Amino acid sequence: MEENNKPVVHLISKPENMLKTIYTACRTCYSALSPYEIYNSTDDKEKMLSLIERVISSGHYSTIEHIQVTFAISNVSRACTHQLVRHRHMSFSQKSQRYVKEKGQFDYIIPPTILKNKELKDKFENFMGEISKLYSEFTEAGIPAEDARSILPNAAASSIVASLNLREMIHLANLRLCTRAQYEIRTMIKMMCDELIKEEAWLKPYLVPKCERFGYCDEDKSCGRMPQLKK
Ligand SMILES: Cc1cc2nc3c(=O)[nH]c(=O)nc-3n(C[C@H](O)[C@H](O)[C@H](O)COP(=O)(O)OP(=O)(O)OC[C@H]3O[C@@H](n4cnc5c(N)ncnc54)[C@H](O)[C@@H]3O)c2cc1C
Repeated sequence: MEENNKPVVHLISKPENMLKTIYTACRTCYSALSPYEIYNSTDDKEKMLSLIERVISSGHYSTIEHIQVTFAISNVSRACTHQLVRHRHMSFSQKSQRYVKEKGQFDYIIPPTILKNKELKDKFENFMGEISKLYSEFTEAGIPAEDARSILPNAAASSIVASLNLREMIHLANLRLCTRAQYEIRTMIKMMCDELIKEEAWLKPYLVPKCERFGYCDEDKSCGRMPQLKK
């Protein structure tokens, strides 16, 4: 993917005390101490990580639901955001095609398979130009943006603010980093994971494709990286 055809992803919000909050949630389940006493304990990072790892691997996922992170995402196609918004434990605020009227050529994302073929890329761009002209004709004739947008393509660029808790973040990574996921959402989710791992390196083993977490592939068509469950 060319650099200017790539998602732009920034982690804009996360708790400062992520590890300690999760540790407090985990240890509260097994301790006579109050949650606040646990939170203020001097337990070191190694001890906190060891308990958190045990609790997450036993599937006690409510403990990581206390952590909320927010990403600012732009330069992605509507095809990509449409897939993202299928995730039901996330909150979204997306650039509206009703309130934001396109002026001149709208931005669009070219899939890399088309981008690398000069002839097809030219056809793709000409077609975007044609759509843009018709869109302008409609809006100039007084058609509201909410109706003129009906002719905008899946390739039209969008921006979205997405928030989710850590349990959903791990689920999202496990599903969408899989090679079966579409290239653009896979690229975007990888960037979200990298942003978070930059701040919280301990999350790296969890923010991986599902096959890496579970040691097998449950997809019908496998990339062959891990043994298939059905075999
Ligand atoms: C490779 C790939 C191909 C896909 N292809 C298609 C396709 O062809 N057509 C299509 O329509 N979609 C497709 N999807 C989208 C897919 O079906 C899911 O809608 C999407 O991945 C969201 O996943 P989810 O439901 O697990 O996660 P989320 O909505 O993020 O929910 C997380 C988890 O919460 C639980 N949960 C959430 N809501 C409910 C509920 N109502 N009842 C019970 N449990 C719930 C489930 O355990 C779920 O796994 C595809 C996804 C992938 C990754």
